[in-house]
Amino acid sequence: MATYRIWTVGCQMNKADSLKLAAGLDRLGFLEAGEDQPADLEVLNTCAVRQHAEDRAYGRLANLRREREGGRDFTLVVMGCMVGARTTELERRFPWVDIWAQPQHFDPIIERATTLQGARDIAEGESWAGWAQASERTGQPVGSAPAMLEMVGWEASTFAVPTGPTAFVPVVHGCDKFCTYCIVPLRRGRERSRTVADVLAEVRHLADHGVREVTLLGQTVEAYGHDLGTGEDLATLFEGIEAIDGIARTRFLTSYPKDMTDRIIDAVADLPKVCEHFNIPVQSGDDSMLARMRRGYTLAEYEERVGRIRQRMPDAALATDVIVGCPGETDEEFQHTVDLLRRIQFDVIHVAAYSPRPGTFAHRNMPDDVPREVKAERLQIIEAIHAESSARINRRLLGRTVEVLVERQNAEGRSTGRTRTGQLVHFDATGLVGQLAQVDVHEVTPWSLSGSLAGSRLLAVL
Ligand code: SF4
Repeated sequence: MATYRIWTVGCQMNKADSLKLAAGLDRLGFLEAGEDQPADLEVLNTCAVRQHAEDRAYGRLANLRREREGGRDFTLVVMGCMVGARTTELERRFPWVDIWAQPQHFDPIIERATTLQGARDIAEGESWAGWAQASERTGQPVGSAPAMLEMVGWEASTFAVPTGPTAFVPVVHGCDKFCTYCIVPLRRGRERSRTVADVLAEVRHLADHGVREVTLLGQTVEAYGHDLGTGEDLATLFEGIEAIDGIARTRFLTSYPKDMTDRIIDAVADLPKVCEHFNIPVQSGDDSMLARMRRGYTLAEYEERVGRIRQRMPDAALATDVIVGCPGETDEEFQHTVDLLRRIQFDVIHVAAYSPRPGTFAHRNMPDDVPREVKAERLQIIEAIHAESSARINRRLLGRTVEVLVERQNAEGRSTGRTRTGQLVHFDATGLVGQLAQVDVHEVTPWSLSGSLAGSRLLAVL
């Protein structure tokens, strides 16, 4: 059988895309290659949001080039956000790549895969009966890509096969916000929501395959439904999932303050399955910087939304993203970000240093004028604030009992899962993967909690 490997960097959306492609390849009869085994189809699912992510892909491409020059035969695909509508520049730099595929453009990969698998199967004398029927239906020759696709029932809507009790479900693709520094709208296109029926069908499929927690994904997830014109929104999805047996928790990523309506906040507060866990990037704590980033909100508006969440859910967890060293960021503007982070006391702060992304407004019009060492220093300051506030928040849980959805168990019989508010918890117990357990917390670090199963109590056996 032909084999594949998908190497993925970047956001949860990329991970969801990789799982979907894997589902298609599995249907075609491909096997996932083991870690040290060569694969017939090598797919790099890339990210262009930061230079570091692109550099990792370039490193991987260089390694694969060496392997091919050394005589290894394989098909090489680059997909994801490094690939724009025009790939001329990339094709010139990396002529040894066989297929360039924009995010979510799976069809060229699947079509090439059919040819690979077809050749393999013909060589091994397999699948002739199925192909003959597909060939008759499609009018395409036996072993051709369209006949093969028809036979395996591949569609872009093919649901991914879950690999554990948690799963990501993209609900809105693309982004309409066009922040000046961001490449995403240029690579993933405008906002496009899936229908409610399609999303709920996927969640039911996941529940039937043992998934207990779904995370609804969008670059700005509260934009869900805006383009549908039906009045349906993210809260509509939350309500629909409440009724799906087997699903214990619903999460959502990533929030955008201006799209976060009272209705959505109220749904999180009122619906038992929806976790009170928000990831709301602020990016900067300075109004002038926010305007230059074209984030579309002021600090006061951002803090008003946080206030509303905390008024409805005093124990809600809040995570945020910050970029330091954006063009022209002064010491004073950076200090305003520090002040904001100390004021709000986020549970988690994801921080990154600005790197110019070719094609963005900022790259064309704003000089990258904050020195590298200043960016590094600001990065460290924010990381220290993050460590302090995570430690303080986790310390509050010491001696308390928390609800954990068990996600995995290691060979030594140690289980790991997350609380509703996203803390990682380790404890000694076996056979609980996919279950909700109550855990007494005995130790905390800024990054995780450890404890023991509270008596023999399982909150629920799902
Ligand atoms: S909201 Fe801004 S930062 Fe987020 S994906 Fe859209 S353009 Fe990029």
